[in-house]
Amino acid sequence: MSRLSGKVACVAGAASGIGKATALLFAAEGARVVATDINAAGAELVAKDCGGWALAHDVGEEGDWTRVVAEIERREGRLQVLAITAGIEHHTPLLATSIEDFRRVQRVNVEGTFLGIKAAAPAMRRAGGGAIVTISSVAGLNGAANLSAYCASKGAVRLLTKAAAVEFAQSGWPVRVNSVHPGFIDTPMARTMFRNLDPDQAKQLEAHIARLHPMNRWGRAEEVARTILYLASDDSSFVTGAEHIVDGGYSAR
Ligand code: NAP
Repeated sequence: MSRLSGKVACVAGAASGIGKATALLFAAEGARVVATDINAAGAELVAKDCGGWALAHDVGEEGDWTRVVAEIERREGRLQVLAITAGIEHHTPLLATSIEDFRRVQRVNVEGTFLGIKAAAPAMRRAGGGAIVTISSVAGLNGAANLSAYCASKGAVRLLTKAAAVEFAQSGWPVRVNSVHPGFIDTPMARTMFRNLDPDQAKQLEAHIARLHPMNRWGRAEEVARTILYLASDDSSFVTGAEHIVDGGYSAR
């Protein structure tokens, strides 16, 4: 199958985890992949595996987005798909969260998504149509202790996505925008929670997190990538402003 055959796709945050799995799946489905990340060396490695190319990119910088989109249009002639998978988490009680940490999370997760949509949509219109996939979380649907900055950012991504989707659709712009809401997915980001644990504590936390999901396991990055692929491809041609939950039943209870 080649569900993205002939399409030029940018994955912003492609060096690791969900973004890496998405870039590899996009390439396997026929897309020309441009992998971007703040971790430029990591993005290069992924781009190599995708047969595409890479750019260093801080999603919180408007100038970076302008440069990335211009470079893609210059080299490939068009941009039709954007998956914004870059993100950071911050795991601290609300009362211990500094305003600097709160803003740092919003800058990457919210401003990065806003700037990406803003930069890519006009290019997609010039290309005759496109699809943007944002990454929220189950933490963008429900509150969670010690995750106030992250929950605030992911809730914002959810409604930013819907607002953009409605605005573009009502304006006749051929750009769909949808969000994906993963549960716990086994990636380097999720593993940061284990940093200071001894092996017994780590084992317990791993099992506890699995039990939070009725399917009693963690998700895999590839499982999220498959939903991103659906939203990026013409299979979802009548889907915009939708939130797609990939969480083994976590938020269904
Ligand atoms: P990951 O493995 O840490 O990958 C995120 C990538 O984004 C990393 O390569 C990271 O680089 C990069 N990045 C960080 N800040 C950036 C910036 N300012 N500009 C460009 N790239 C930047 O994390 P992941 O688990 O795949 O997460 C991907 C997305 O899914 C995030 O939005 C996350 O919030 C969301 N999500 C994850 C889970 C989960 O359980 N894993 C659950 C729900 C939602 P560095 O490594 O150098 O920082």
